[in-house]
Amino acid sequence: MIPLTRRAFGIGAVSLAVGSPALVEPILRLPPSDKPTVALTLDACPGAFDERLARALADNAIPATIFVTTPWMRRNPTGLAFLLAHRDLFSLQNHGDRHLPPVLGSRTVYGLKPAGTLDAIRTEVALGSAAVAAASGEIPKWYRGAAALYSPEALAPIRQMGFGIAGFSLSADAGASLPAATVAARIAKARDGDVIIGHVNQPLRPSGAGIAAGVVTLKRQGMAFVRLPDQTAI
Ligand SMILES: [Zn+2]
Repeated sequence: MIPLTRRAFGIGAVSLAVGSPALVEPILRLPPSDKPTVALTLDACPGAFDERLARALADNAIPATIFVTTPWMRRNPTGLAFLLAHRDLFSLQNHGDRHLPPVLGSRTVYGLKPAGTLDAIRTEVALGSAAVAAASGEIPKWYRGAAALYSPEALAPIRQMGFGIAGFSLSADAGASLPAATVAARIAKARDGDVIIGHVNQPLRPSGAGIAAGVVTLKRQGMAFVRLPDQTAI
């Protein structure tokens, strides 16, 4: 595997006019490798634990990068223990301390109150990182903001703190809002190098079953799965 580089990260970013000024949704893809490879990333926003999905990944030995929030870890000690019991498969990374979008100003983002200032964004990232480190014993290398949208001014400060910004290239579940069959069909279209985003905090919604079905099918077709922190050189 060729190391993931900033250049690989910088392939593109979609500018989204969510309020004003425009926010960015960074695109992240894996660099070329010698066999078809994708990265499955799952957000544990505040919420519950989709054990059905996590067990399916464990049963099929499919690695994933899990972006956890502090509130999720507090509310789901059993889920956290499950993830930590499968460290060979699941890597815990930073989804923020309070699930505040790393966005300047006061306009809500998908209903979420933003951090608001650069200082508050740094606090959100730093405390989220500390919580992951306390739980797992490992300092996370990647940060994904709540709602995966960023004020452009926030990107450099977050990188200066030592984190890669975990964009994605394939949204599997649109915030865990899609039916299982739709989610599975989206994942079936994954191409070599895709970074797939889904959610592992909505066990009562059908999306998680679609993620499980989709990635199991991909694996049977020969797709390899990697975790973001196993990519070097960020
Ligand atoms: Zn989230």
